Amino acid sequence: MPAKIIDGRSVAQRIQGEIKRAVEALRAKSGAPGLGVVLVGDDPASAMYVRMKRRACERSGLRSEARILPSASTQAEVEDAVSAFNADPSIHGILVQLPLPDHVDEEAALNEISLAKDVDGIHPMNLGRLGMRGREPTFTPATPTGVMQLIAETGEAIEGARAVVIGRSNIVGLPVALMLAKANATVTICHSRTRDLPGTVRGADIVVAAIGRAEYVKGDWIKPGAIVIDVGSNSLPDPDSEKGYRYVGDVEFESARAIAGYITKVPGGVGPMTITMLLSNTLRAARRSLEA
Ligand code: NAP
Repeated sequence: MPAKIIDGRSVAQRIQGEIKRAVEALRAKSGAPGLGVVLVGDDPASAMYVRMKRRACERSGLRSEARILPSASTQAEVEDAVSAFNADPSIHGILVQLPLPDHVDEEAALNEISLAKDVDGIHPMNLGRLGMRGREPTFTPATPTGVMQLIAETGEAIEGARAVVIGRSNIVGLPVALMLAKANATVTICHSRTRDLPGTVRGADIVVAAIGRAEYVKGDWIKPGAIVIDVGSNSLPDPDSEKGYRYVGDVEFESARAIAGYITKVPGGVGPMTITMLLSNTLRAARRSLEA
């Protein structure tokens, strides 16, 4: 039997509906939750992500404010933009759109974000807490949180499962691996120097692919019945499509679907969850600010 599709779009829609209702209730009491976005430079992909986040905020009734700085901005100017959002009581969450230009020290800029407003879970302190026993981050990063939510949707136990995460980036692979370990999976992190990646993946009950290589993970690497979460987003030339390209994941979907128990699609899997988790964290930040 082919794998069940974990439909990220419908899960995201359901959660965004819940967020919208919660935001309406909060607006009446204390005003809308606010997200502050810092974008440095004119990278078209980053500008598109910022637009998508603004639209998602509007749809759910959140306020969003963007500080768009030129690519030649100094370290101090970037950090000042973050500090201004820290000091603004109508802004509950702050997102620094990555990557920053090469001359800007990313860690120093992210360190500037107030922990209470780190809705992207990207502050080095929050990533550290994610990996430590007995510590909890103020927020967990959006894409990895979306991955965990999609795994939860299957209803299968994470505790005791063997999980293989392919990729160890700061924004996806590493935090996903730490979150799976916190949820008591036995986690293997694979990367470009891993020997026998297919053999390692074959032992996994849960596979998270966050590589950035089109259809790299083949169906015959997958353990029968495994949960496969495909984070990858890669464009491939496609003369049959209007745009001339199409998006595919890091997993060869059809061959993996024939063997896995559950699988996400690209597009329509992890992508819609990322923005949803960011909105959810911003709502949580606004609620916490009321309790403080
Ligand atoms: P990244 O920073 O480029 O990291 C890629 C990771 O994959 C690295 O750890 C790298 O290993 C590993 N890798 C590369 N080639 C490999 C190979 N042949 N075998 C095994 N591992 C290999 O990428 P990222 O930012 O984590 O993003 C990964 C993918 O997810 C991209 O397609 C990106 O577009 C997508 N993404 C999607 C969303 C979403 O919301 N849907 C959000 C974020 C990212 P090394 O560490 O050894 O170099």
